[in-house]
This record gives sequence, structure tokens and C-alpha cells, in this order.
Amino acid sequence: MQDLSRQNATATRQSSDEARLTKGSEPAPRQIRMAILDRDNTIVRVPKGIKHLCGEDPLLLVDGALEFLAELRRREVIVVVATNQPGIEQRNCHETLGLAARFHERLNATLARSGAHIDRFYVCPHLPADHCLCHKPRPGLFLQALDDFGIPAAETLAMGDSVCDVVGARRANITRSLLLKSWGGCLKPFRRLWRAPLIAHPQEALDWLESSPVQS
Ligand SMILES: [Zn+2]
Repeated sequence: MQDLSRQNATATRQSSDEARLTKGSEPAPRQIRMAILDRDNTIVRVPKGIKHLCGEDPLLLVDGALEFLAELRRREVIVVVATNQPGIEQRNCHETLGLAARFHERLNATLARSGAHIDRFYVCPHLPADHCLCHKPRPGLFLQALDDFGIPAAETLAMGDSVCDVVGARRANITRSLLLKSWGGCLKPFRRLWRAPLIAHPQEALDWLESSPVQS
């Protein structure tokens, strides 16, 4: 009996933990109006040996990203990027911010040929030790994007290849946040904690939106 009551206590604790994590989330409309996406290894591939893509660096798209972005555009979804670029501030800030903007300009020019477009780029240039509010997994970039476009978190999709993308999104109350499988680390404990669905291909996000329960 004692064992059973201990089990029950554990179960109660687990369900209250889950309730805490989802607390405040309203039933979400199925339709999304904005997508907040990570950049590196979610939209563009980071070649080996390059730490912070900017300027005229190689521009290689993640498989399926182009089609995914074009479909979002077709559905009139606002698409923004939220990216940590801690290397920017370590170098000449004005010059490298300009180089980052140049890379984003080239990215949009490439996307435009297939009818895709990124509406705005949100960049955290700080180091984690700077304790800014925008470095993912902090929610600053997500909150700024939601505020700028006036879109409720419930009508937003977030996607990235790192747990910090999911955690940042959840902290901004974006419950529909997906993990794209290109990260090499051990995802299991984090996925369980944050209940983040894992997809292998960007376009699976569209299928997931169609099939997932409205309240996540
Ligand atoms: Zn920052």
C-alpha cells in the first residue's frame, strides 16, 4: 500500500508539473498567422569550418526549407527568423551587423526565386554571459516578434534545430514549437520536459499542424 501511495504521489507530482508547463495556454486556433524560425541548420546549412554565416559566405539551404517557406508564403503566414549570432559583437560591430544584413539580403534574393520570403530577421548579437534578454533560450526575440506584428502566441508556430529554440518559444507562450532533427545532442530528456514534437524535415511541420490536436 505504501508503495502504491508513493506511486500515486509521484504521478500527481508529474501531472502538476505538466500542468505548470502548459499553464496559461489557451486552445489554439488551427490556423497559424506567423512562423518564428531559427536560421542556422533550420533554414540555411552551416558548412564545416564556418562559425557565423555572414556577407558572401556560402549560402546552402536545408533540404525542404525552400518548399516549406514558399508554402508558408502561399498561406500568407508572416515568416520571421530568430537567431543567436554571438560572434557579431566580438568583432567590429558595425561592420559585422552589416555583413549579417548582407547575408540575409542574399538569402531573401534566393528565396524570392521560389516565391518564398522572410519578413524580418531578429538577431541576438550578444554572448550568453552578457545576460541580455534576447539570447535564446531566453524569450526576448520571440516576444519582440509577437509584439511587432501584433500576432498572439496561440497563432504562431516556432521551429528550430536546438532545444534552446523550443525553450525560448515556450517561454514566450508559443506552445506549437517543433524541434527539427539536425541537432546531434541527446534530445530525449529535453523533449520530454518541453513536450516538443520532433520532425525530420521542415515540411513535416505543415503535416503536424494539420494533424496535431488544436490544444497542444
Ligand atoms: Zn541578446
